[in-house]
Amino acid sequence: MIKTSPMDVPAGDVELHELIVNKLIYSVAAREERAGPRDWFLATTLAVRDRIIDRWRLCNAAIADEGRKQVCYLSMEFLIGRLLGDALGNLGMTDQVRRVLAGLEVNLDEVLGQEPDAALGNGGLGRLAACFMDSMSSLGIPAIGYGIRYEHGLFRQLVREGQQQEVPEDWLSLGNPWEFERSSVTYDVGFGGHVAQAADGQLEWVPGETVRAIAYDTPVVGWRGRWVNTLRLWSARATDPLHLDAFNSGDHVGAQLARVRAEAISRVLYPGDDSPAGQELRLRQEYFFASASLQDMIRRHVRLHGDILTLADKISVQLNDTHPAVGVAELMRLLVDVHELEWEKAWEISRATFSYTNHTLMPEALESWPVPLMERLLPRNMQIIYMINGRHLEAARADGAGDALLSAVSLIDEHHGRRVRMGHLAFIGSHKVNGVSALHTGLMKTTVFAELNRVCPGRITNKTNGITFRRWLLRANPGLTQLIVDTIGPRVLDDPERLADLVPYARDAAFQQEFAAQRQVAKQALVRVVQERIGVQLDPHALFDVQIKRIHEYKRQLLNILHTVWLYNAMRAQPTSPWVPRAKIFAGKAAPSYRQAKLIIRLANDVARVVNSDPTVRGLLKVAFLPNYNVTLAESIIPAADLSEQISTAGLEASGTGNMKFALNGALTIGTLDGANVEISERVGLDNIFIFGLEAGPASVLRRDGYDARAAMAASDDLSGVLEAISSGVFSPGEPDRYKGLVEGLLAHDHFLVTADFDSYVRAQRHVATRWSSPSDWWRSAVLNTANVAWFSSDRTIQEYAGEIWQVRAAPLD
Ligand SMILES: *Cc1c(COP(=O)(O)O)cnc(C)c1O
Repeated sequence: MIKTSPMDVPAGDVELHELIVNKLIYSVAAREERAGPRDWFLATTLAVRDRIIDRWRLCNAAIADEGRKQVCYLSMEFLIGRLLGDALGNLGMTDQVRRVLAGLEVNLDEVLGQEPDAALGNGGLGRLAACFMDSMSSLGIPAIGYGIRYEHGLFRQLVREGQQQEVPEDWLSLGNPWEFERSSVTYDVGFGGHVAQAADGQLEWVPGETVRAIAYDTPVVGWRGRWVNTLRLWSARATDPLHLDAFNSGDHVGAQLARVRAEAISRVLYPGDDSPAGQELRLRQEYFFASASLQDMIRRHVRLHGDILTLADKISVQLNDTHPAVGVAELMRLLVDVHELEWEKAWEISRATFSYTNHTLMPEALESWPVPLMERLLPRNMQIIYMINGRHLEAARADGAGDALLSAVSLIDEHHGRRVRMGHLAFIGSHKVNGVSALHTGLMKTTVFAELNRVCPGRITNKTNGITFRRWLLRANPGLTQLIVDTIGPRVLDDPERLADLVPYARDAAFQQEFAAQRQVAKQALVRVVQERIGVQLDPHALFDVQIKRIHEYKRQLLNILHTVWLYNAMRAQPTSPWVPRAKIFAGKAAPSYRQAKLIIRLANDVARVVNSDPTVRGLLKVAFLPNYNVTLAESIIPAADLSEQISTAGLEASGTGNMKFALNGALTIGTLDGANVEISERVGLDNIFIFGLEAGPASVLRRDGYDARAAMAASDDLSGVLEAISSGVFSPGEPDRYKGLVEGLLAHDHFLVTADFDSYVRAQRHVATRWSSPSDWWRSAVLNTANVAWFSSDRTIQEYAGEIWQVRAAPLD
């Protein structure tokens, strides 16, 4: 019998009980006895949301009344995942809600499992934005995250016959109880048309098309519920959805087309950009959200403070990569054309407002747009970019820059058919430019931005990425969290630096055992997930060797697969040797048009099928490729990982944040000296991490000079055995040539140095096995990882941004 009567409920829970039941009845309109988990999810979320809204109102009032400076974080991606668990944890309501729901014969975990995983992002960059939102709220830093409300986020990945298939993600199909549509917060964003000159000489853009941006707000509650910020995502609508003129004149289809065209802007994350139409849509998305966000900031600023001249004192805009970089030209347009400021004054305000985070050094990933496309789609912005560039080059020339330097620092790349370099635009338009790890920031100064760094010295600064411990330890790994709190006290929940108090316990046998026992609990849970999802039975006592991240050649899942095949060959050759049982676990999505990455997924699945069905390695080796990697899946895999694979070609992973999540949860890392791995190794100590392979300097020399993979293969029996097996069809017996091209390609141009690092990687993997064979050594290293990575809390990262880039102060928290 369901206890809907408050009489059966403990006094302290009555209010919440009534609130949830009322939401179920009046907002979800479900009958208690018939309500399913989805109904309870909605009712619970709506109840919890009420608690957040009270505080949200106070915070917004405080920002206005106290005139606080606010961060505007512009990001094309917010990979936020599920929100209810986060909100409950941050509000300290998890236990109470669990109890109240249990009284209603409802299981909280089942309710949490109903929430769709909001995959409004692709990978690390989007997840960073989500961790930053959590940290800004937790620290009381007033902030708005601005992005796009994609109707369909990143595709859902199916694996059929070993191959990736993409199907649309429908996260909004059942409604989203977290968001508020703000029908009064709308802006018109123009495209195309021409630039006219008024009688007074003022230039004015007359767009050929306008699209309306509508705000959807989601409250982001911080730790202990003390501060609430806003995630404001824009949805695109036609300004004239009916197009009545066209419709009445008989053009029924044409009337619809304009609407479809406008609304396509917020339809999907990363529309395929192989075609010119796809590229154009992508640029439309970028300008759409940058323009709407800047118009919104200016409107609020003028309403609050009256004076556009103080914009930079009250707002700091962070550009998360170059996707919103067109905003630099857009703010200038708004200041000069609409608010009629002098150019010099406008530029001063604009530069003081913007700062820019670079996320990649790979030339193919550095955004640039063809000048003709910009001229057609954003004619006024393109004029402004020319003006910015003219002044910028003039200043550089006055400082003595020669032609080669001028061409390198120009906003226009003249070598590839005239393109606007968006990274350069963001750089020139910002007062600070940051990289995301010490190594990456150093490389920025010597590679992509070497010349700009000469022309604008001192602008580049480092802000090593971080992760929110609340999601990635407290929520993802409650068992380990409880152990830590029981051992060193609850202060660690508010102050991650206290994790260092675990150091003395690293050698404590009893503590090691408890630490290992928690891992075992998480592994048992993951074993069940793997069995359910793909029907592969893992041994929970095997070493869980995990690589989960986007599938990309530079991340080198292929290197890991080669090691898997090496292990398989070696185990079959000597089945009675004392092998360490391993489970190789992979997950990750490949970009839909990235053929090589998709082939790597197929190879992983083919290797898994052969290995998992071979009785000679039964009990020794299993391979699992888990489909549809997302935040939720990461939360269940990471606490169960023993070994964290962070094996990118050195110099190519800007930071990585997956590496931090694993180390925090006590997995040991096998990795190259790349991105934040370098800083992790400095903190956990080289004895507690397995570093291998070429370093960034030598790797870049080899990549430049051309590396001879055939020679490496000839010199290594291990490598040649592995490549021979793959290319001869051992893993694709039905189609023996399936991977011939892949192996030949690798031997012809091993751009990512997979073969160069192979022997060193296999050696490091042997050290892993040796350490595993000595449990007290393994668990000491594991504890020292957890104990020494407090610095990778995104609270630390955000504090650095706030103090050194944004000049924003936290509001006092009570
Ligand atoms: C942390 C995270 C990433 C980033 O992982 P890297 O290993 O740093 O590439 C990508 N996707 C999801 C879902 C994540 O949680």
